[in-house]
Amino acid sequence: MEPRLTDQVPAGAGLPETPPRILLADDDPVALMLLTRQLKRAGYDVESVTDGTAALQKVRERFYPLLVTDWEMPGLDGVSLCRAVRSMQLEGYVYILLLTARDSKDHIITGLEAGADDYLTKPVHEAELVARLNTGRRILNLEQSLRGAIQENRWLSITDSLTGAFNRRYLMEQLPREIDRCCRYRRALTVITCDIDFFKRVNDSHGHSVGDVILNLFADRIRKLTRTTTDWIARYGGEEFVIVLPETGFEGGMQAAEKFRAAIESTPFASSAGELRITASFGVAAFDAPDPAGAFGIDALMRQSDECLYRAKQSGRNRVEGVRLSAAPLLSTSVA
Ligand code: GH3
Ligand code: MG
Ligand code: MG
Ligand code: MG
Repeated sequence: MEPRLTDQVPAGAGLPETPPRILLADDDPVALMLLTRQLKRAGYDVESVTDGTAALQKVRERFYPLLVTDWEMPGLDGVSLCRAVRSMQLEGYVYILLLTARDSKDHIITGLEAGADDYLTKPVHEAELVARLNTGRRILNLEQSLRGAIQENRWLSITDSLTGAFNRRYLMEQLPREIDRCCRYRRALTVITCDIDFFKRVNDSHGHSVGDVILNLFADRIRKLTRTTTDWIARYGGEEFVIVLPETGFEGGMQAAEKFRAAIESTPFASSAGELRITASFGVAAFDAPDPAGAFGIDALMRQSDECLYRAKQSGRNRVEGVRLSAAPLLSTSVA
């Protein structure tokens, strides 16, 4: 059975092998030395500073999952530091342990309200410090696994499970952003719609599972030919894909489509039914430097590349047809 969050967990259990990095802030040199020694003895990687301003600077430069801070320090005190850290957008949660010389209820409530997760009264008891930090690490572990699960869910919701390409939902979400950026900054953008030729025959002759394998290999082959940092490919539906090439104008877009077309045609796809030769048709719609006043919507852009794809199919398949788009009248070109 999966453990529940409310189950008792022994101190130290479930913690990652490497203890996280700690940022320690205390203006008292003796306390700083003692705490550093204790934390190092517990296996932590410790970086120490003597005031809140220096601590905040460190937090800006690097991610520290654990922050142990004294309350009373010159300049920025521990509570102000907590508030500042909580207002920042950081790569993960920072667990904050506040050290205080006073343990009145009001005082402690102020610290917790400022964003501290826990507090310890000084002088600090070594075993208690370690135990409290173990609690912090359990919370950090939970936060990390939650963050991982959210990322995985997000990934699953925007990709197509068969081909690993982005799905139609992502395309409809992301392409308008690309169009917007390209129109606003007058940047080039190419959208290529491609459709496998006579794909029904693959299914009819070799079965649906062979068809699935080919779809997967097809997407893979095209992906390998794109620039991974900027270009992306989405499965629009069935055996139709959309390839988005930001910063690529008409000439570059036509060349890319021709490269994809040739790569699909030239090498057969290995499957359980043997080596299968397939071809695909491509429709290219590209902006070189669009007029911001003549901004295109996603529907108009997709319609343009669809029309080119249709022409490629009509004129014999295994072809690239393209159109150069601008706010001005459209100019179309074809490649045999
Ligand atoms: P054309 O050259 O005109 O595009 O011909 P085509 O046969 O590729 O086009 P058609 O639209 O007639 O058929 C598309 C085929 O794609 C039919 C369908 O079974 C197949 N297909 C769509 N999605 C999948 C899938 O997820 N897996 C498999 N194996 N086949 C799929
Ligand atoms: Mg102090
Ligand atoms: Mg087809
Ligand atoms: Mg189709």
